[in-house]
Amino acid sequence: MTGEESYDVVVVGGGIAGLSAAWSLRDRRVLVLEAGDRLGGRMYSQPFGEYWINFGAHLFPPPGSAVDSIIRDLGMATVPVEGGMSGMALGDRILTHGRVEAYPLRLPLTGGERLAFARAGAKLQLGVRRYQRAARSRPGEDAEARNRRLFAFEDERTFADFLGPLPPRVAQIFAALANRATAEPAQLSAACGIHLFVMVWQGRDSLIAFNLVGGPGALFAALGERLGERVRTSAQVTAIAADPAGARVTYSGAADERSVLARQVVVAVPPPTAAPLLRELAPEAAGALDAVPTGPFLSLGIRTSERGAMPWDGVYALSTPERSFSMFFNHAQVLRRGPRRPDGSLMVYAGGDAAARLMELEDGQVRDRFLADLYDLFPASRGIVADATVQRWQVGNVYSRPGRREVQPRLEAGPFGARRNLHLAGDYFAHLGSMETAAGAGREAARVVAASLREGDPSQ
Ligand SMILES: Cc1cc2nc3c(=O)[nH]c(=O)nc-3n(C[C@H](O)[C@H](O)[C@H](O)COP(=O)(O)OP(=O)(O)OC[C@H]3O[C@@H](n4cnc5c(N)ncnc54)[C@H](O)[C@@H]3O)c2cc1C
Repeated sequence: MTGEESYDVVVVGGGIAGLSAAWSLRDRRVLVLEAGDRLGGRMYSQPFGEYWINFGAHLFPPPGSAVDSIIRDLGMATVPVEGGMSGMALGDRILTHGRVEAYPLRLPLTGGERLAFARAGAKLQLGVRRYQRAARSRPGEDAEARNRRLFAFEDERTFADFLGPLPPRVAQIFAALANRATAEPAQLSAACGIHLFVMVWQGRDSLIAFNLVGGPGALFAALGERLGERVRTSAQVTAIAADPAGARVTYSGAADERSVLARQVVVAVPPPTAAPLLRELAPEAAGALDAVPTGPFLSLGIRTSERGAMPWDGVYALSTPERSFSMFFNHAQVLRRGPRRPDGSLMVYAGGDAAARLMELEDGQVRDRFLADLYDLFPASRGIVADATVQRWQVGNVYSRPGRREVQPRLEAGPFGARRNLHLAGDYFAHLGSMETAAGAGREAARVVAASLREGDPSQ
């Protein structure tokens, strides 16, 4: 005996995937090791007064979801987003409401561009309908078979090939939308591009159309408080090694390097970090993670200090092709019921290639570019920006390239390692990362861990 700390399960990573696993396992001896000085990972907001500034994920899944069940356990609740979710600004025209099918006619485009936009839009709508049909469970089919069928859907070609040749301005419109997946249309699989539109084009029926009042940060403050000593921040895991107890997890703490023993380990960090940690004990898992592409996001969280109504008050999300950022979000929108409060909270971001190029600039340069475009988009925003903070997400999201159907079963082949005590949790089990996929994967890993702990680790 070494006298080292030992746990039933160590969770590597304190994002929603890891904390979902830890929350399910809170009655066991569980320890979460988080590299950063806060919990939440890519779900990050900071409160100011009754508002919050968002820097990462913000749209929550509906009641009944894995994320929502944690939120309810904590005595919190999400609210539906009522502002326009599918707006688009092009040239001097800003469309915030109305049917997206009519956008080709309402945007300042030439005749040829309108026709190409309408054709590609119709193709996409058909694709969305086909995807939804493919996603429907069939009688007698288990989850694995459904998944196999779903990942085989439109997996051979890229989203750009699916859309077909487009005039440059129309291609820019679709690129701005595809950048929400942190990639370009020529990188995404057709399925991944279509899936993106399933998520963002459905308005109130969308898979993600809720906000947490107080911001995502409020969820992690509550989780941190409830999990207490089961969570350690500023603890970056550097190695997972075999040990007679199960596994030895080494991390660099605030001052020194430490290790803890664990019977089971849930690895809940993004693929580029997870793969090296698993290379030695579970090379097959590391290989599958290597095959999941990720892309960057660069966001600017903006605190505004207006005294009255603003032109964006009814807007939640606006796509902004041809600008330095590709999306504009009004995160104060859910607080715009009843009398107009002073102040506000906005976020803009770039994804994919545009984000990668901007990452080469200093924060101040990024801020200046984004704000210049914001003032051009909404002249009323000039003079009311009280604070604007750049947030760099080198790993903004995961996406699927063509051929993803081969990767999925490899990712799902866990638990991994000779002792089958290494579990994956993350947002990469779907075509496109989302908090719900991450939380669902964490909950599933916890279910397998709990079963294995109950059986008393047959490997021992
Ligand atoms: C700008 C932006 C907007 C988004 N918008 C939405 C949205 O509206 N809705 C939605 O559903 N999703 C959205 N997403 C995606 C969503 O944020 C992610 O899919 C989800 O949060 C992933 O959770 P995770 O726990 O798998 O990973 P992460 O949130 O990345 O958490 C991983 C954690 O592991 C930690 N870590 C890393 N390495 C180590 C190590 N070696 N040791 C210990 N800890 C480590 C990290 O610090 C981090 O806290 C958005 C993402 C971004 C960046």
